[in-house]
Amino acid sequence: MSKIWANSGDSHLVEPADLFTSSLPASLAARMPRSEKDADGQWETVHVDGQAIRRKMPRGTLTDADGRTVDDRAPGANDMKLRFVDLDAEGIWAELVYPSIGIWMSSIQDPDLLAAGCRAINDWAFEYQRFSPRYVCTATIPLLSVDTAVAEIHRVADMGFKAAYLSVAPPLGVDDWHYDLWEPMWSALAETGLVIAFHIGTEPHDATTSHGAYFRGPGGALINYTETTYGGQRAVTKMIASGVFDRHPSLKAIVSEGGATWGPFVADRLDEAYRQHGSAVRPKLGRLPSEYLYENVYASFQHDRSAVAAVSAMGWQNVLWGSDYPHLEGTFGHTQETLHGLFDGVAPEVRKRVTVGAFAELFPHVPPAPADEA
Ligand code: MN
Repeated sequence: MSKIWANSGDSHLVEPADLFTSSLPASLAARMPRSEKDADGQWETVHVDGQAIRRKMPRGTLTDADGRTVDDRAPGANDMKLRFVDLDAEGIWAELVYPSIGIWMSSIQDPDLLAAGCRAINDWAFEYQRFSPRYVCTATIPLLSVDTAVAEIHRVADMGFKAAYLSVAPPLGVDDWHYDLWEPMWSALAETGLVIAFHIGTEPHDATTSHGAYFRGPGGALINYTETTYGGQRAVTKMIASGVFDRHPSLKAIVSEGGATWGPFVADRLDEAYRQHGSAVRPKLGRLPSEYLYENVYASFQHDRSAVAAVSAMGWQNVLWGSDYPHLEGTFGHTQETLHGLFDGVAPEVRKRVTVGAFAELFPHVPPAPADEA
């Protein structure tokens, strides 16, 4: 089997357990997310700023002798050098890399505490990008206030970050993405050129539900997994409809891990509404809503069988493959089989666009991926 090289629009870092205790004053570190595993290793309690959230441990995570969470399937996940062994074996060149602990940050309700935590995560994550341009790290943006968000955007852009991770919805109690509150943040992102990186499944934690679990009962696992994908679609719909891309045409946003064929679907729905409900539409937009989706919005997928057709049959060029390394939903251990399954028989220009081209367009500073190997 020939080796296909691909960039990944969706990967993750695994933060060390001492990240906050080694970088923040003890009084702040004590309030940051930390995990306590049950003796049987099946469940954990995540403590965040006085809250305790119980969850079943994802399969494939272990705790080492020092109490750090390690991934027994992907040992390279915890080490910036060892990680290349996995990436090279899998045929993954560059990665857009999200934090792992970031999803718990949404449970913090103190803006200054959140800002301090984000600075600590970002300073740590940037060491990966400093080590190699193959790591395109997303900076976690503190979203409890627009002022802390704007300040961190400028700080991380000055450091050299190229992407800003936003949860698909703002924290509870804060105006949603389509409200004017966020205009200074969109301006700061446009000014700095940071790519907006939404990752699915990052809605703020609501104390009435466990994280990401919306439904119980028969089929719950399937329903909930599917449900996690809609948040990314909602986020970009809000940006398009409220005119964010109209005001900031250079802004780019990627939705990672949520499939791809939703893009043309949402574009059609928005255009239909814009035409058929025109009298109720405000603000008016400079162009059809679909044009912003087709030009400003990108999406990454891992296994989805229909995703390549979003490019080849529906004409949306902004589709990236993603490994989701080292997560359970990802392709680690079977990346080449996945890539061949997706791309064998697909036109070379479509394959190149999805495996490397769209990523290179978003992150032109990254050295090009090696040529595919016979
Ligand atoms: Mn992911």
